[in-house]
Amino acid sequence: KWQSFIKNNMLTIMTVVGVLSGTAVGCILRSLSDQKWTPRETMYLMFPGEIFLRMLKSLIIPLLMASIISAVGGLDLSLSKRIALRSILYYATTTVCAVILGIILVITIKPGVGAEAAEKGGTSKEEEALKRKVLTQDTLLDLIRNLFPPNLIQACFQQSQTLLLKPKNFTGDELNITSSTLIHWSFKERYENTTNVLGLVVFSIVLGISLGQMGEKGKGLVEFFGMLSEAMMNITSWVIWISPLGVFFLVASKMVETDSFLEQIRRLGFYFATVLLGLVIHGFGTISVIYFIATRRLPFKVIGQLSQVLATAFGTASSSATMPITIQTLDKMGLDPRITRFVIPVGATINMDGTALYEAVAAIFIAQLKNVELTFGKTVAVCVTATAASIGAAGIPQAGLVTMVMVLDTVGLPAEEVINILAVDWLLDRFRTTINVMCDCVGARLVDILSIGELERIGDTDRLNADPQ
Ligand code: ASP
Repeated sequence: KWQSFIKNNMLTIMTVVGVLSGTAVGCILRSLSDQKWTPRETMYLMFPGEIFLRMLKSLIIPLLMASIISAVGGLDLSLSKRIALRSILYYATTTVCAVILGIILVITIKPGVGAEAAEKGGTSKEEEALKRKVLTQDTLLDLIRNLFPPNLIQACFQQSQTLLLKPKNFTGDELNITSSTLIHWSFKERYENTTNVLGLVVFSIVLGISLGQMGEKGKGLVEFFGMLSEAMMNITSWVIWISPLGVFFLVASKMVETDSFLEQIRRLGFYFATVLLGLVIHGFGTISVIYFIATRRLPFKVIGQLSQVLATAFGTASSSATMPITIQTLDKMGLDPRITRFVIPVGATINMDGTALYEAVAAIFIAQLKNVELTFGKTVAVCVTATAASIGAAGIPQAGLVTMVMVLDTVGLPAEEVINILAVDWLLDRFRTTINVMCDCVGARLVDILSIGELERIGDTDRLNADPQ
């Protein structure tokens, strides 16, 4: 029995071992050398992981668009409307619950009260002026702008930009700007030069609806995208075999890169623990309650089958890069492909419960550090903006750190205050990405169970063979 279990789950076991051994090897390598690893050395160590990431990333755009178009176009309109409504309801409920939980925890534990803030350089007048330009409404407008990409090709490699933030050809020297501001800008820059996945999702949904409405005439294109999506899944099944090695090198190189990390954890220990506790309570408690209310079942069996996906999410720190493997795993679990092809790409883009919880905790933690008083109105504003910030965050590493500008602004703090949480963010990012992905998967199962009767009614015989639980 043991042997057959190992044989059937070889890849999953190896991927989990990849994460654990990557962590251990990374820590050992770092402690063995008395000098800090240079960026070049770390790059060499990360190289196999980088190749793995590149392979996954290459699948994202074609898979995402083809899946959504074929899923929406292939169902009749009233049914896809119901599936979409259920998914959106699930996304909204879980995200708001996550934010509220985060706020309750951070207000009760008070990790920021009495803790010391990170060192910052001096502030110049110009910097003050620049700070004020990062407003909640800028980021909110960016979020809405991103929903409507004017050019699809451009959307494949660029997000909408709040150019207000950064003067042209700015180097930092002119204004004697603090390093924290620069760090934040460099994140922002990296962020802007990434795919506008949200825009592509919206466009694909609209195209799918349009094709669905065209009936017979649109069928050819729906089938084309259906085939494209299957081909991508086929490639995923090859790429997935190198995931154990990929995550091993990604995690190991990250461990080597981050020195004095234990020291930072100690300094930010309470904050770190608050976010982590929130993620665990949300991922296993809140989600189970919501799942139970909707389906009268518990999600633990579903979660138990997700180890491969969760290990990849932890290793890559990116919901988008994990998406091909997420869909593949849910397919194997017997979910209806028409559901997963819609719920997962959309969920990986907008449903980020872990990120939402973290945004709320982090912003209030920084407010506590800085002795900023938190009125009821501000708390409600944090709730709203943390939700928006999680929707706006792309599924890439540390995207949440960038969209946090919006949440910080609502409590009256400038963007550069992220310096206070920067040190442990890379690790928290991995945990929150894991919860983001897990909640998407549970949501897909929930929508699948709720929609099963309707899908059969439209005459799908394959579906009858699947084993819903
Ligand atoms: N890395 C996260 C994700 O891909 C987003 C975040 O930074 O919170 O889901």
